[in-house]
Amino acid sequence: MYHYSAGDIITSKVYGEGLKHMGFVRKQIDDILIFTIPSFTETGLVKHGFTSRRGGVSFGDYSSLNLAFHVGDDPDCVRENRNKVLSMLGSSPDRLVAGSQVHGNRVHVVTVKDKGKGGASLDTAITGTDALITNSPGIVLSSYYADCVPLFFLDPEHKAIGLAHAGWKGTVQEIGVHTLRAMSENFGTGLDCCLAAVGPSIGPCCYQVDSHVYQRFAERFDYHKVLFEKEEEDKWKLNLQRANYEQLLRAGIRSDNITVSSLCTACCHDIFFSYRKDRGKTGRQASLIMLAGES
Ligand SMILES: [Zn+2]
Repeated sequence: MYHYSAGDIITSKVYGEGLKHMGFVRKQIDDILIFTIPSFTETGLVKHGFTSRRGGVSFGDYSSLNLAFHVGDDPDCVRENRNKVLSMLGSSPDRLVAGSQVHGNRVHVVTVKDKGKGGASLDTAITGTDALITNSPGIVLSSYYADCVPLFFLDPEHKAIGLAHAGWKGTVQEIGVHTLRAMSENFGTGLDCCLAAVGPSIGPCCYQVDSHVYQRFAERFDYHKVLFEKEEEDKWKLNLQRANYEQLLRAGIRSDNITVSSLCTACCHDIFFSYRKDRGKTGRQASLIMLAGES
């Protein structure tokens, strides 16, 4: 299921009316492998990326670029990994903000007083939130993944950014739509110019779910049938990436402003941590985004 070749542009995806979405770009910076969104880079407003498992100092199940404290890795290794990735973005853990993720749909508006929360330890992370938004420059928003869907947002007009962590529960609760709404209420973000991206995550190829999950989607989304493929009695393959794409599109984001990665974290196991592939004991890659400048 690898879709990239020697070139930089590694993934593209075609949905519905045949619209094609440019994928994420793979970048190797020293020994760190990171993925970026071309439309975000083109604005010149942000530094951002989605990390891989390559280029860190953790070992064993967390080998090697584990960026999360809550998974049982040596905290000193996590701090060293974070230092390394953040210095690549021209930042540091005292400017990082992390939430403790709970598969909900609460959005936290990050301000200067949050700077550093969750940056160097789990204790100080913002509790119970899966989405972070801000219009303060120089603050790195972060969230952590091993198969769940990372959503990125950039409002280039009002210079505001957001991240949302969407597993199946967060997707059913439409965390992406809640994040957009919060950006609109707090920063005046309009849907016509907002950029969004659906990052590397578990693909329909590897994500089998049962009728409980199917029913939750069926109750909520009249278009749910395009998201599932029946495999056997009580077993479906769920396309969580498309579920999030459809929500953003139906919320009003223009299709050509949504970048979708087709990389599956379980298929690309040599590149990404995967909760399913690693049977639960594994590290986390991170979504990172920061508005350029200082505040
Ligand atoms: Zn797969």
